[in-house]
Amino acid sequence: MKLASRVGRIAPSPTLAMAATAKAMAAQGIDVVDFSTGEPDFDTPDSVKAAAEAAIRAGFTKYTPSSGTEELRGAVVDKLQHELGLRYEKSQVLISCGAKHSLYNVAEALLEAGDEIIIPTPYWVSYSDQALLNDATAVLLPTKEEEGYAIDAEELERLITPRTKAILVNSPCNPTGATYGRATLEAIAAIALRHDLLVISDEIYEKIVYDGTVHVSIATLGADIAARTVIINGVSKAYAMTGWRIGYAAGPRELIAAMGNVQSQSTSNPCSISQKAAVAALRDGGAFTERMVVEFDRRRRVIVEGLNAIRGVSCRMPTGAFYAFPNVSGVLGRRGPDGVVKTPTDLANYLLNTAHIAVVPGEPFGSQAHVRLSYATGMETITRGLERLDKALARLT
Ligand SMILES: *Cc1c(COP(=O)(O)O)cnc(C)c1O
Repeated sequence: MKLASRVGRIAPSPTLAMAATAKAMAAQGIDVVDFSTGEPDFDTPDSVKAAAEAAIRAGFTKYTPSSGTEELRGAVVDKLQHELGLRYEKSQVLISCGAKHSLYNVAEALLEAGDEIIIPTPYWVSYSDQALLNDATAVLLPTKEEEGYAIDAEELERLITPRTKAILVNSPCNPTGATYGRATLEAIAAIALRHDLLVISDEIYEKIVYDGTVHVSIATLGADIAARTVIINGVSKAYAMTGWRIGYAAGPRELIAAMGNVQSQSTSNPCSISQKAAVAALRDGGAFTERMVVEFDRRRRVIVEGLNAIRGVSCRMPTGAFYAFPNVSGVLGRRGPDGVVKTPTDLANYLLNTAHIAVVPGEPFGSQAHVRLSYATGMETITRGLERLDKALARLT
């Protein structure tokens, strides 16, 4: 069979692949310490589950409007108004099957062959592959660990060509845990306005911030930049609802309408029951998120301190999301049982095979020097995993 050439350009999500391998090993009875999974270990709040149960009992189990229920789009409009002070009409909000699906709808509605989208790196793996799936090019903007992964506005502007359509902004960032302050976002906004670009602002970790960090949405920096920003968010991370598959986009009417058409011809509406659950989460999940973030904060300190205590490893303190992204270049070049561990992928394989520790290598995120560890996992897993990691790295010679 001759498949479409676009599928040859992409690879399965490496984070999902590592998580699947770790789960398969655990199912065989192997004691795996799993740092790979990018989802909260907390259970979905009971009030959210109750809303879903009520929806099922009430027979709310049929198609909804393709773009999402009035009720949920209304809840998103209210949230954006109350939390960010932004006014959207319901027609500017599209509910999709997860934020990943929202992003995919943007890519389909926006990108044509040869179009370019600028993505600061290290970056979440799906951004570039979604561009590739739509025959566009992902133009990567490197940022530096020693500069806190800050975006250099001049470098950003140098990458712009007549084919550039959009800039991707992900703050707090997966995998680095970096957050962008107002000044950085203002500089990006000025460039987007000057060059007539769309800003795609993935704010899925907005609530998961530490040390008093305040999440700033680029769309709040003025009416002109709001008019060319599409905010992407969802309930997966903030309310421990990764399996429910609800995300949303809010942005320019024309773009949202086009995305809605794409969705109506591809998936139709997201799950009716999950939409009811998401309304409950948005309306009264705030206290749950706050409790969860307090716990993530505790774990963050333990894992970062533990990683920094390991010879050859150094780790910045993340200010958002729930990932540690240690620099492991100090252990690369050492020798393991299967030869020299040259790359983060070699290291991840070594750790998985010999020590049963699952981490995600940096390469698919655009880094040759890091691995990603999620700390959205129990404290006991973290302390046990750190001990095991220390021993496993000490065995490399
Ligand atoms: C988890 C994640 C998403 C997607 O989450 P959904 O479950 O699809 O809503 C989007 N962006 C980033 C950066 C993520 O880490």
